[in-house]
Amino acid sequence: MLLLCAHCHATNRVQEDRLNQTPTCGKCGRELLSGAPVAVDEAAFAALIERSERPVAVDFWAAWCGPCRTFAPVFADAAARRSDLVFAKVDTDANPDLSARLAIRSIPTLAVFHRGALIERVSGALPASRFDAWLQAAVAKAASKA
Ligand SMILES: [Zn+2]
Repeated sequence: MLLLCAHCHATNRVQEDRLNQTPTCGKCGRELLSGAPVAVDEAAFAALIERSERPVAVDFWAAWCGPCRTFAPVFADAAARRSDLVFAKVDTDANPDLSARLAIRSIPTLAVFHRGALIERVSGALPASRFDAWLQAAVAKAASKA
């Protein structure tokens, strides 16, 4: 699968079965799945939510969406602080089939997946404190299902 480094924007090819060995960027050496949201396409999304041992928080967004731009720093801040989840972003315009399959009708839509299953999902830009509480609840729910 291809993962775009959130730190230097280099494209990295990562073996799917190595997703849980903290893959690092071939260019800048930083971890691909920690510290900052990683941009994923449909194939990378599918591999990530199936194979990640950590729950995956996903921000479904689009460049033209004002609330998405407002929410982006909240999502990035959570990614910088929390190591209990992987943070990924899906550009809904670039991935219309995935968006249709998941019935994403308004953006931003925020979702947490674990081992291929949807754990929690909410539409709309949450304030930072509510987003953090929502993540916490989703992590607890994911753990209880594991
Ligand atoms: Zn990099």
